[in-house]
Amino acid sequence: MTAWHALYNARHAHQDQHPFSATTVRRVIRFAHRHHRKLVAFMLLSSVLAVLTVATPLLAGQVVNVIDQGASPPGGGKSDSSSTVLLLAGLIAAIALAEAGVGILTRWLSARIGEGLILDLRTSVYDHVQRMPVAFFTRTRTGALVSRLNNDVIGAQRAFSSTLSTVFSNLVTLLLTLVVMFNLSWQITLLTLVLLPLFVVPARRMGARLARLERERADHNAQMSTQMTERFSAPGATLVKLFGRPVEESAEFAARADRVRDIGVRTAMVQEVFFTALTLMAALALAVVYGLGGYHALRGDLDPGAVVSLALLLTRLYAPLTALASARVEVMSALVSFQRVFEVLDLKPLIEEKPDAEEVPAGPVSVEFEDVHFSYPSPDKVSLASLEEVATLDTRGGEEVLHGISFRAEPGQMIALVGSSGAGKSTLASLVPRLYDVDSGAVRLAGKDVRDLSAATIRQTLGMVTQDGHLFHDTIRANLLFPRPDATDEELWSALRRARLDGLVAALPDGLDTLVGERGYRLSGGERQRLTIARLLLARPRLVLLDEATAHLDSTSEAAVQEALGEALQGRTSLVIAHRLSTVRAADQILVLEEGRIVERGTHEELLAAGGRYEQLYRTQFRETQDGAEVTTVA
Ligand code: ADP
Repeated sequence: MTAWHALYNARHAHQDQHPFSATTVRRVIRFAHRHHRKLVAFMLLSSVLAVLTVATPLLAGQVVNVIDQGASPPGGGKSDSSSTVLLLAGLIAAIALAEAGVGILTRWLSARIGEGLILDLRTSVYDHVQRMPVAFFTRTRTGALVSRLNNDVIGAQRAFSSTLSTVFSNLVTLLLTLVVMFNLSWQITLLTLVLLPLFVVPARRMGARLARLERERADHNAQMSTQMTERFSAPGATLVKLFGRPVEESAEFAARADRVRDIGVRTAMVQEVFFTALTLMAALALAVVYGLGGYHALRGDLDPGAVVSLALLLTRLYAPLTALASARVEVMSALVSFQRVFEVLDLKPLIEEKPDAEEVPAGPVSVEFEDVHFSYPSPDKVSLASLEEVATLDTRGGEEVLHGISFRAEPGQMIALVGSSGAGKSTLASLVPRLYDVDSGAVRLAGKDVRDLSAATIRQTLGMVTQDGHLFHDTIRANLLFPRPDATDEELWSALRRARLDGLVAALPDGLDTLVGERGYRLSGGERQRLTIARLLLARPRLVLLDEATAHLDSTSEAAVQEALGEALQGRTSLVIAHRLSTVRAADQILVLEEGRIVERGTHEELLAAGGRYEQLYRTQFRETQDGAEVTTVA
């Protein structure tokens, strides 16, 4: 039964991935719909272009007929003929001019539509990815994701533009040309068409082959981006230098790059063989026209002008045919890109705001956990196998991490979370900003379930300081302004002062405009943390989530961070993952967490007196910090 199921699923998945699946095409059309005015204009102009394309060979044929008759005039004079020839030549020139103008205009339209489509796809993917829960980002490889946004979006656009500019206009040109040719001589036209199936059949097979190659190339490119973004970040590069095997790393990269080259060469060759075959066929057909047409013209069944028109039309017949055949190829390979983009767009964000989401009521907020059970969601719910470069994602959910957590922090209170590593402290904290949703029970802010609140209101209410406060690679000013773009310089400096960072920033040559972050000014751990505290102070949250640093900062830095934190927590409700004695002492309530359960709760004195798990922790963890602090004061 399960084996059958697996087989069915595999088949099913395969079907879904077929680039020509009707749903994909339908979605592409829906996507393009907002450009429908330009599309209509494009189609009209393409039709005009097709008419112009067919007109020239007919006029050329007329020229030949006039020359033919002029050379042996039955009744009319020679001067009549020459003025007609001049008129025809003038018309041909005018058509050429019109063709150029209309051509440029059509190209402009198709570019506008194509580029507009890139814009739509890019912004939708960006918006969508931004709405994904943190769980998605912890699993997904950045490089793979960025590749979707870049390579695949462009691929998808190519599919669309080429369908548009080649398929439509060429189809019109082709039909018109055929109609005119049939009118001139249906026998010759039929003969040239006999050759047609000879390349339509291989073209189909070639298309499928190219689509396969394209998919493989996209995968390899994404893998290379991933490897680069991972290895060429400062931590990644350090790791490779320390433990890495640079030779093997390079070899792995080279192997992929090598495969991409092979695919590139294969693609080029497959296309070239195909085009050569087409050109050859066109040349053979031309021979048929001259041979058969010449024979009929000599017998008087056909004007000599008609032979010339047929030959010229034929050269214009095979051009759209070639383009159509290769468009099929391009559309095939590029629909794959559309599919890869849709795949990302189809990911349902696990955490969505209710349509009637509420605001957090004004005033100080309380935080309440009521019988919260939580397990991390299974990978298949939060991510995409192709983004993680695995065949299938684990569908099993994680084990339950929090089991029946209940507590309440009154407005203005400080709750300290203590417990050994892996006990679930960070997990618990991450439920408040709704980075994840609980399995059962509820998390409430100011008495309201966080699932009923809008994301914006949660963001405004809550501030978070983590151990490795992330800074964007941007100026200090931009980093500070991130939560509150409207803050004045005065407010910035006030926040920096309260975070005990004003001295440092003032001393920097560029002051607030100093670049920090990944490759900017090297802030020390303490300075970095104080900068994130300044950012928090500026955001003025009503609830602070704080993960105290475990790493020992140097003593002056430590003292400065402590002072800054004092400012940040002042008068606010707070939930602190505590590593310091001063914090647990000041806490209104300490929750001792072990293996996802609150095993003890109370104030520092109460818990010490109880002589349980907290007392143990106090002796091993917090006392040392106290000793450290004492040494600091002595020094
Ligand atoms: P603490 O903060 O107390 O050190 P955590 O909340 O980080 O503990 O971890 C609690 C448990 O949850 C651990 O068993 C950990 O392995 C697991 N865990 C943490 N993060 C994730 C995650 N993103 N996905 C799955 N399991 C996780």
